[in-house]
Amino acid sequence: MSPNSPSQHDSSFDTDVAIVGAGPVGSLLAVLLGKKGHRVTVVEKWPTFYERPRAVTFDHEIARILGYVGVDSENDAAIEHHEDLYSWRNGKGETLMEVDWNSMTESGWRTRYWFYQPELEKRLRDIAASMEHVEIRCGWNVIDLQQDDESATLHGVRTENPEIEDPNAEVEQLRARYVVGSDGANSFVRNKLNLDMNDLGFFFDWLILDLKPTAEIEYGPDHWQLCDPKRPTTIVPGGPGRRRWEFMALPGEDVKELATEESAWNLLEPWGVNPDNAIMERSAVYRFQARWAEQWRTGRALIAGDAAHLMPPFAGEGMCAGLRDAVALSWRLDLILSGKADDSLLISYETERREHVRHYIDFSMELGNVICITDEDKAAELDARMIAEMENWDGTPVNTDVAHLGPGIWHADSAHGGELAKQGIVEYQGQQGRFDDVVGRGWSVIGINADPHDALDSVASDTLAAIDATVVSVGQNADNAEVIDLEATYTRWLGESGAKYLITRPDFYIYATAANDEELQTRINELNDSLRLSPQLTVSK
Ligand SMILES: Cc1cc2nc3c(=O)[nH]c(=O)nc-3n(C[C@H](O)[C@H](O)[C@H](O)COP(=O)(O)OP(=O)(O)OC[C@H]3O[C@@H](n4cnc5c(N)ncnc54)[C@H](O)[C@@H]3O)c2cc1C
Repeated sequence: MSPNSPSQHDSSFDTDVAIVGAGPVGSLLAVLLGKKGHRVTVVEKWPTFYERPRAVTFDHEIARILGYVGVDSENDAAIEHHEDLYSWRNGKGETLMEVDWNSMTESGWRTRYWFYQPELEKRLRDIAASMEHVEIRCGWNVIDLQQDDESATLHGVRTENPEIEDPNAEVEQLRARYVVGSDGANSFVRNKLNLDMNDLGFFFDWLILDLKPTAEIEYGPDHWQLCDPKRPTTIVPGGPGRRRWEFMALPGEDVKELATEESAWNLLEPWGVNPDNAIMERSAVYRFQARWAEQWRTGRALIAGDAAHLMPPFAGEGMCAGLRDAVALSWRLDLILSGKADDSLLISYETERREHVRHYIDFSMELGNVICITDEDKAAELDARMIAEMENWDGTPVNTDVAHLGPGIWHADSAHGGELAKQGIVEYQGQQGRFDDVVGRGWSVIGINADPHDALDSVASDTLAAIDATVVSVGQNADNAEVIDLEATYTRWLGESGAKYLITRPDFYIYATAANDEELQTRINELNDSLRLSPQLTVSK
């Protein structure tokens, strides 16, 4: 099916995919499926969207994903970046660690950006709402989910306030080919499917304060972590024109008391922040947790985002993980809904994403176990170790880490299989820029100074055509490549691992590399088998 072609829409379903929850994850998934021409209905229990900033930072991979849907992290009013190193300091002001969040990464975007979540969510919802086949239905509270072999049906009630149950409310139904529950931490869909959560028993309460400064305030580096056992504190931007302070509740502290406005201003006072120089936009206590569902799907219903996993926000990766879920689901559902692949493809959604998200849960907990220390002796011991490490440090700022996919649709015996692909600056057909922007996104096969088509038989070429893959030669010389690798990103990277070809997926992860023509042919045949593409699509005419 070509993009935006409604030709395969089946009127016996109300929609192709019903998404529960219009948070960042549900909204991104709607946009990605809408871009492919599928019918999507997003149902949201609240009739209007109220501002609930939680996430404030996302990483380079997310910037690349947002670029795909037209949100440019370098030039968007809701997103910014800062030059200072992200710094961890102890109560005495000594530096424990510094991380570079500003440099450009191999994804073609900066390591991290800061943003205002309500604005970004609105951006995604507006894009979704502008699409021909996407509907966002607000004030529709899902109260039941039923499934059969063909469909999944949501039962919902229209409501002005989902927290007040109306026993007389008329129950409406929404019959879809698939349901995705991106309905947050207390997910109705997850509970209905009886999908249990694993729990690492990490519980810390933090007071989160979102402020809009009205005058100049001095807060040290642009973004930093105060590892002071007397009161662990996070001081970061909250998106353009905004600041965020996060204060940990100390052992035995009354969380209700901590959450009062008076207590919030008291905590801010030593920072020189008061009602005369800042507006408190939001104050809320959150319990940070480390949990994930073992199973992410039952039949035609799946979960994504906070519905499937929760992590403490110390690595700034919770929403990022949810947005990765949306991308991972979207390309699979696109192939299935287009009749190109069967729905066993969804098995790998769970296996790949669960292991990937576990990495970030563990990493966030590791950071949390340093940040949340309230024992003075333990803190002093850790400070001494971190300061010693800083002394031996060669000054190269630590970069954020990237995770590997769990088992799924990628080649384990192939260099870089299951890793996030790099993105270089290239020139193609007279245009210069990021590969995604000037050559294209989606499945791609790159040949270093070689046209991949020359290595493939007609069946393999049909496979690539069936998944709308971009197939190009890349090199530094226009004589033997269609795409000029302006900064030698691809030639150097693949050259180091002896790869001649690179096969990447629509979520920017690497399916496989191949050292020679024969291997490329084999890998594409295997890709065909892994995707379980319908035979009629790949039998050469
Ligand atoms: C203090 C804090 C700081 C954080 N910082 C970061 C950070 O810097 N970076 C980062 O990546 N992540 C961060 N996170 C995590 C991030 O905020 C979440 O992972 C993300 O917002 C979850 O998005 P979601 O779309 O999965 O769920 P949500 O945003 O919770 O959306 C779920 C939606 O589903 C709707 N819904 C629920 N039930 C129903 C129903 N029955 N019917 C219809 N609709 C329903 C809800 O109303 C809601 O709109 C932070 C979290 C916290 C708490």
